[in-house]
Amino acid sequence: MILLDQSVQQLKGVGEKFASYLNELQIYTIHDLIFYFPFRYDEFEVKPLTELVHNETATLEGKVATQPSLAYYGKKKSRLSFTMQVGEFAVKVVMFNRAFAKKNLDLDDTVTVTGKWDMHRLQLTATHFKKGEAKSDNPIQPVYSVNENVKMASLKKVMRQAMVDYGDYIEEVLPKSYQDMYKLPGRTRAVWNMHFPESRILLKHARRRFTYEEFLVFQLRMQLLRKRYKEATDGNELFYDNNLLTDFVQSLPFSLTDAQKRSLAEILKDMKEPHRMNRLLQGDVGSGKTVVAAISMYGAVTAGKQAALMVPTEILAEQHAASLQDFFGDRLTIRLLTGSVKGKKRKEIMEEMEEGTIDILIGTHALIQEDVKFFDLGFVVIDEQHRFGVEQRRVLREKGIKPDVLFMTATPIPRTLAITAFGDMDVSSIDQMPSGRKEIETYWVKGKMTDRVLNFIKKEIDQGGQAYVICPLIEESDKLDIQNAVDLYEQLRTVYEPDVTVGLMHGRLPNEEKEDIMSQFAENNMQILVSTTVVEVGVDVPNASVMVIYDADRFGLSQLHQLRGRVGRGARQSYCILLADPKGETGKERMRIMTETTDGFRLSEEDLKIRGPGDFFGKKQSGLPEFKVADMVHDYRALETARKDAAEIIDNGWLDNRVEFKPLKKIMRKDFENMGEILD
Ligand code: ADP
Ligand code: MG
Repeated sequence: MILLDQSVQQLKGVGEKFASYLNELQIYTIHDLIFYFPFRYDEFEVKPLTELVHNETATLEGKVATQPSLAYYGKKKSRLSFTMQVGEFAVKVVMFNRAFAKKNLDLDDTVTVTGKWDMHRLQLTATHFKKGEAKSDNPIQPVYSVNENVKMASLKKVMRQAMVDYGDYIEEVLPKSYQDMYKLPGRTRAVWNMHFPESRILLKHARRRFTYEEFLVFQLRMQLLRKRYKEATDGNELFYDNNLLTDFVQSLPFSLTDAQKRSLAEILKDMKEPHRMNRLLQGDVGSGKTVVAAISMYGAVTAGKQAALMVPTEILAEQHAASLQDFFGDRLTIRLLTGSVKGKKRKEIMEEMEEGTIDILIGTHALIQEDVKFFDLGFVVIDEQHRFGVEQRRVLREKGIKPDVLFMTATPIPRTLAITAFGDMDVSSIDQMPSGRKEIETYWVKGKMTDRVLNFIKKEIDQGGQAYVICPLIEESDKLDIQNAVDLYEQLRTVYEPDVTVGLMHGRLPNEEKEDIMSQFAENNMQILVSTTVVEVGVDVPNASVMVIYDADRFGLSQLHQLRGRVGRGARQSYCILLADPKGETGKERMRIMTETTDGFRLSEEDLKIRGPGDFFGKKQSGLPEFKVADMVHDYRALETARKDAAEIIDNGWLDNRVEFKPLKKIMRKDFENMGEILD
């Protein structure tokens, strides 16, 4: 190992100057060099035309069949083209800015060209060109990121030199048992094949090996950090009364789904432990998060504590209070505290709170006002957690002494990200709907058919339903959004009134007015609600059975899914209609996925595939790691495997008590300091 830590200048043929050039690529030691992997590979394997894939890189060998013609355009740009005979086919070859090649090319010359293959036009846009036959010795060529001073050829040369002289000193870090279990090549061999792959298969295995290694090291670091974090954050051991809980669960009008049981068990386990719980409970709207939270809060109450549930709006607070009251009956004392609770009523609640006669307090931001004091707050639930700022969450937390905290969100993020993105938060996922739910039927309708959609809405309303109509989203301006909503509102009024009442809601309205309109709609005083995307997450309007979304292709998958979740909350069959004429493939793909699944987790996986992890959280979010080889989206199975293995290793203390884990521990430690950033 020490050997590899020597400066690259130790290599034959690398002098001070070349070493300084390599430094520009962040290559200082021999180790840095050896682990400077190609970012892609060019394939020069000649294949029959019939096996080539449209728009992918291909290599062709053939004879020049027409005199090359050269055209100049722009200042220094040129386009060289000729026909090449490949077996029985005449293929057109185009090369940009390679004017010099013209004088080298004569009729009947054999040439080898590599570039992008256009199957429909039988055309190849060449980026590589060579006179003569294709070489067959090294069909896969590594491509490194290089700069002006370090040329590709010299980098390859010094790489080979380094591998020949020092390759054998590369240390294995994976215990043998793991290599065997996953049939991974050894580290030295894998490095060789990353740089000089002799075949696609060997390259694939080399990549597989490093993908696993990177994920495993990453997961070990994350989990170790999390463990330390837990050890550092002491909390209360909440000894809930298991009998009371069981009894309560049995009193519910339904039995819990497996996913609910699993999440509940995870939460209860946290509560019993001395560290402070910091857990995210994620699941689609209607998957039954609130019930799980209610049982957990009850648990805290049986342990002698008070619990608080904070939600972003008054209507939600009211709905939660009502449904919890339903569940609990007179088992415990529940109060509602919102901005509209004032005067004597409020004073009463304050007193009861401080005396500790209230078990569960449900409310909005009103909960975090300064004069709200708890007797002994031990458990905090924050619904739609992203709607609250860090500061607001902190204030609520600090109303208790190290209370356990449960966050909830109906915007599930893929497991892949959940297990990487949250360094200090544990995640429970309810990825299953209670049985017997009617699946929302989703249709994608081209804009031209709007009339039929309007008729459909009418029919649903005649049968007692209600409809949301969501307006086009215009990213640049919420003024325009509102204008759109107003226009659509006027238009629908002329279509439907007076038999049907149409309402309008948008983001510029004051909060009270929004809430008022929402309650009007909930009480069926209006049958159609035209709205921008401000329609409240989580508000129950069981009667609403139609969700129409204009220009649906302008929304992201998770937002569409959120909007769709506004309907399908009652006994009635519900529908989601996406009006869209997407231009691009991505838009079409999104519409298709929406019609295919109502599973929020699957949708978020798909969304991740379309957008990539960087985009998922917005640019600078979450300290997502950069891997050399691994790809969180495409290799998510490997990530999951690595996560499990890391958990096993850490739980068993193998890093410390088993000698074969020593090398792993050593590389894990490297850069460990930087990992702190992930926790910010
Ligand atoms: P969420 O908070 O995830 O949106 P809720 O907890 O509000 O979901 O549950 C939605 C509805 O489903 C509620 O009426 C609730 O009583 C009911 N529910 C919850 N869990 C189950 C279950 N396991 N079986 C049947 N109904 C359930
Ligand atoms: Mg909810």
